[in-house]
Amino acid sequence: MAVVVVEVLSAPVPGALRQRLQAQMAAPLPAQPELVLVTDLDGTLLAGPSPWRRWLYRWLVRERHRVLHVFSTGRDLRSVARVLAAEPELGLAAPHLVISDVGCTVACGLSLEPLPLAVDPIEARWRGLPERLLPQLALIPGVASEPVTADRRLAYCVDVEALDGSLLRALEIHGVDCLISGGRYLDVLPAGVNKGSTLLALLEWLEVAPERVMTAGDSLNDLAMFETGLASVMMANAEPGLVAHLPRLPATYQARAEGCQGIVEGLHHFGFTALLEGRASALVGCAV
Ligand SMILES: [Mg+2]
Repeated sequence: MAVVVVEVLSAPVPGALRQRLQAQMAAPLPAQPELVLVTDLDGTLLAGPSPWRRWLYRWLVRERHRVLHVFSTGRDLRSVARVLAAEPELGLAAPHLVISDVGCTVACGLSLEPLPLAVDPIEARWRGLPERLLPQLALIPGVASEPVTADRRLAYCVDVEALDGSLLRALEIHGVDCLISGGRYLDVLPAGVNKGSTLLALLEWLEVAPERVMTAGDSLNDLAMFETGLASVMMANAEPGLVAHLPRLPATYQARAEGCQGIVEGLHHFGFTALLEGRASALVGCAV
């Protein structure tokens, strides 16, 4: 008798990745988010006229069950904690998730504890690099003597006038990317790790369709988010070096407004008006 061997391919179980991520978190994620809103902090979520900031922060709290909020920032987790402690008078609450250190850390928004599922692969790429890089960075004119922070990246204040870009490019043979943003910050990151790559990895864990995502930012370290092709809004107050990239970013909309007002403008532009329930419209044109 002939024996038929049937190969059973194991398909991924829907929700399994998301459950593994949720298991490392201190607070529940929305079951079926209608929007994943990914916001830079300085110059973006922490900017704009106060009435718009107050409105957007409260909207994020009210819609928490269907709007999954992610901070995406160059700050480290200690600095994110300081922001959350300083902003309650305007109503800014902890997001669901935090991408910090320009994409080198992912943490639960409530506990600010790093999530090993997302962080361990980045940690593995970073291992051994600081020992090689720190002595070389100390010799580069225009780079501060000590890094400001060193969690899976090295962040420095720099004097761009005194900086020789070729010395930074020479560092990249060690497997790092050197990124200058805001005209005064240098980030030395594991090669290929940035706000965009980490967001795409996180969206796989979240099992969210890209059509439900909007990112927002204003500086050059947000460029990698805009290059993902996800719907993105560039603040009116974006740094000139970022604006220069706009022609080759077809999914990025440049808002006329700054900060939180620009984020709301972007939500309208990308078709999320129904989620705003018309309330933001009431603020349009008001004296702010
Ligand atoms: Mg910014």
